[in-house]
Amino acid sequence: MDTKKLAEKLIPDELPSPESYEELYPARQLPAGAEVTRLAPSPTGFIHLGNLFSALADERVAHTTGGIFYLRIEDTDEKRKVDGAVESVIRSLDYFGIKFDEGAEIDSPLNKYGPYYQRRRAGLYRAFAKKLIAEGLAYPCFCTSGELDAVREKQTENKEITGYYGTYAKCRNLSEEEIYKKLEEGMPYVIRLKSQGNAANKFTFRDAIKGDITVTENEQDIVILKSDGIPTYHFAHAIDDHFMHTTLVIRGEEWLSSLPVHIELHKVLGFKPPRYAHTSSLMKMDGDTKRKLSKRKDPELSLDYYRKAGYFPLAVVKYLMTVLNSNFEEWLLKNPDGDYRDFKFRIDKMGKSGALFDLDKLNDVSKTEISKLSADECYGFLSGWVSEFGTEADKAHFANREYLVKILNLVMGTGGKKRRKDIERAEQGVRLLDYFFDDTFKPVYGYRFDRETVNIVLKEFAAAYSPDDDNSVWFAKVKALAPKVGFAGEMSEYKAHPENYKGNVSDVAEILRIAVTGSANSPDLCTIMGILGRERSLARLEKGMI
Ligand code: GLU
Repeated sequence: MDTKKLAEKLIPDELPSPESYEELYPARQLPAGAEVTRLAPSPTGFIHLGNLFSALADERVAHTTGGIFYLRIEDTDEKRKVDGAVESVIRSLDYFGIKFDEGAEIDSPLNKYGPYYQRRRAGLYRAFAKKLIAEGLAYPCFCTSGELDAVREKQTENKEITGYYGTYAKCRNLSEEEIYKKLEEGMPYVIRLKSQGNAANKFTFRDAIKGDITVTENEQDIVILKSDGIPTYHFAHAIDDHFMHTTLVIRGEEWLSSLPVHIELHKVLGFKPPRYAHTSSLMKMDGDTKRKLSKRKDPELSLDYYRKAGYFPLAVVKYLMTVLNSNFEEWLLKNPDGDYRDFKFRIDKMGKSGALFDLDKLNDVSKTEISKLSADECYGFLSGWVSEFGTEADKAHFANREYLVKILNLVMGTGGKKRRKDIERAEQGVRLLDYFFDDTFKPVYGYRFDRETVNIVLKEFAAAYSPDDDNSVWFAKVKALAPKVGFAGEMSEYKAHPENYKGNVSDVAEILRIAVTGSANSPDLCTIMGILGRERSLARLEKGMI
């Protein structure tokens, strides 16, 4: 068969020669050992925790070796395309502080290997499909989907491997005449790889995470160009990884089964394949059993979950680092304030099987990270959450930055040494601030003393209060009030003779605290009253009477 003539007939376009692409996309000038990694999502859905997990590994490997991390959009499947998916990838990764060096929608002088959308690289793929046809390594297949379904059914019935291979690959053996006749008739066709493999042969391949893996050779005549001339993912990605000079492909282990196809594609195309690292799936404990995180059952698989819940993004990243490299936790203990980017990330230290994702542990990391924020950082973090997910009242409150920073210093302890360490998420932090605003101050007064006692304390204190009082004067006034309601002014007196008193000075303070904040637990009350100001403090003492 004249395969050159067939190639011209099937792909008549004037295309640059395959060799010319080598000149167009020359080797990258990078230091020895530098890794070029990529995130190559298909815009068919929204990215999830598993993608973030791989992306973090990609980014760390590239940037700890002086390499490049780029974004390529694998948009060959037009039917499954979801609007906004590309923006969502970029926005989500940016939220978690993961930056690309080059690629789709990335503004960078390094963008020399584009376009970074596969649909915009059609000529390149067609040039290589044409080359394979000319070499007798690819052929047109005219089978209809009905015929393919029938073959699949038969194979399933016979308990055989399904697909287009061996004797089932009907169009593989069409004569030249038959092919031209079908083309004359205008029959639609796809281009298939003429696989040179044999599934009876096994070979060992070294995965950068999982180590040596033995797999069988590919023998499927997979589709490389669909009937509309657009390549399949398999074909396009092999060509792109070659011309974008990817050195290490990090991706989920669900791709392991396609590996023999990818290895064969590189071989027939005359390319040296990149190294591959297949990450293990994220698992969770469900009762006593470990199972894969599932889209349907586990909201925590979606990245939006973390944004909506208001996790501190760096906490999610640091937690994922502990899952990626088990020695990261030890490093973190030694370097509690260190930048996680200083940790020597190693791809070969990644777990070979199921990585356990544990929300409780993430919560712990989040608490620690939030407790370390300065008032400014804390304001930035909380107001970011409020602007997207807060109520109208929250938004109005956060417009007053100066007031907020004062409150945060007190409530979160951002201004001092006593930092609050129990806040896991932005929403909890924001709710703690509610009582500082009259519209969200909704107290349910839980006093532990009788009406008369409460009212005397509130009335007398209101009469004595001055916003100019410092902490000690303020407290002296609380103490002075105690005997008026039969409470001990000095703790030592109370401890010596509790039977002589209805309560003590801290109970007086509790009554005041409940009236002013609505809760028996709050930071320093004198400071709170100072922040609220005289008028509002007095109004609350009044309102708190029962
Ligand atoms: N486009 C593939 C996906 O959607 C990427 C697979 C790969 O990284 O090779 O997951």
